Amino acid sequence: MKKNISTISIFIIISLMMISCRQTKTSESFTAMNTFMTVSVYSSSAKKSQTACQQIQNRIQELEKILSTTLPESDVYYINHSKILPSPLKPELKELLEYSADMHKKTYGAFNPALYPVIREWGFTTEEYKIPSEQKIQQLLLNTDFSVFYDSEFLPNSKINEGMELDFGAIGKGYAADEAVAILKENGITSALLDFGGNIQTVGKKPDGSLWNVGIRNPWGKSAVCALKVESKAVVTSGGYERFFEDENGNRYIHIFDPKNGHPCDGDLESVTIVCPSGKYADTLSTALFVMGKEAAVEWWKNNPDFDFILITKNHELIYSEGLNKFIEPIYHFVSVETVHR
Ligand code: ADP
Ligand code: MG
Repeated sequence: MKKNISTISIFIIISLMMISCRQTKTSESFTAMNTFMTVSVYSSSAKKSQTACQQIQNRIQELEKILSTTLPESDVYYINHSKILPSPLKPELKELLEYSADMHKKTYGAFNPALYPVIREWGFTTEEYKIPSEQKIQQLLLNTDFSVFYDSEFLPNSKINEGMELDFGAIGKGYAADEAVAILKENGITSALLDFGGNIQTVGKKPDGSLWNVGIRNPWGKSAVCALKVESKAVVTSGGYERFFEDENGNRYIHIFDPKNGHPCDGDLESVTIVCPSGKYADTLSTALFVMGKEAAVEWWKNNPDFDFILITKNHELIYSEGLNKFIEPIYHFVSVETVHR
């Protein structure tokens, strides 16, 4: 009888421990950086999850006040209008400027955060789209040479070129996701999923110990073309189908620009997905490899194989790096499926 009672109490204690350790999901959605963002956090403490979610939202609003091209109180707005780096120069901005100069160099200019005047001329900032004259494009391109920053120390109050304007649209959401991950870790969260307008960032594994299942969007329709299993990775996609306008002949002009000619990219890719731990790196490369096009993108990866990629071409081909082999499952009926080895 005694034995039975102690068995029952051990059973009750274990059950109570299991209940108290059960990870419950807390989800918060908000709009920031012109993007609908959702943070889903799994933790045994709902209070801890809510605190982390609130801190993330506050931090992203803070980043928006630094990086926005349209908020008059933002630091980037100040740079674009005064042509002077602010004093003090916030550490986030300094970091992004240094990182951008490095990535501009490494991607041979494919990633260029100084294209804002060109992108605006095509109407992408106001959605009053137009095709500018070639003369106007060439004139605006003269002020987009980001290599002027290669050896810069980015000192407060230093002048930038007259006519130059910055736009961190191709990196901001990835940077914000990295900041969110840091906040989650500070709060002891080991399982979370962030969706920043299609930029996915996963923390750890799912609460049941299995990998996260992320869908890669179909550029030609709804639903997903691939399922991808990941752990503690960013999965960031850039695609021409996201934001574009069409002329009367049905030609499509997309929001990702070729810095060489100041025109919307019109290469052989429909989308580029980058998979790696850093959201900032993934966001930068999804844009840069899209600009490069299929062949140059694969070549670039072979020389810098510190990430994984998925390319979907206009010819309905699927091409991905070998690291994804065990984790990717094509759902769509592609014309061909190719794994690229180093
Ligand atoms: P998303 O709009 O999904 O964030 P991207 O990360 O590819 O897509 O970023 C595209 C944005 O980056 C554009 O809206 C524009 O503001 C800016 N941009 C366009 N072309 C380039 C480029 N070649 N280099 C850097 N930024 C670019
Ligand atoms: Mg990007």
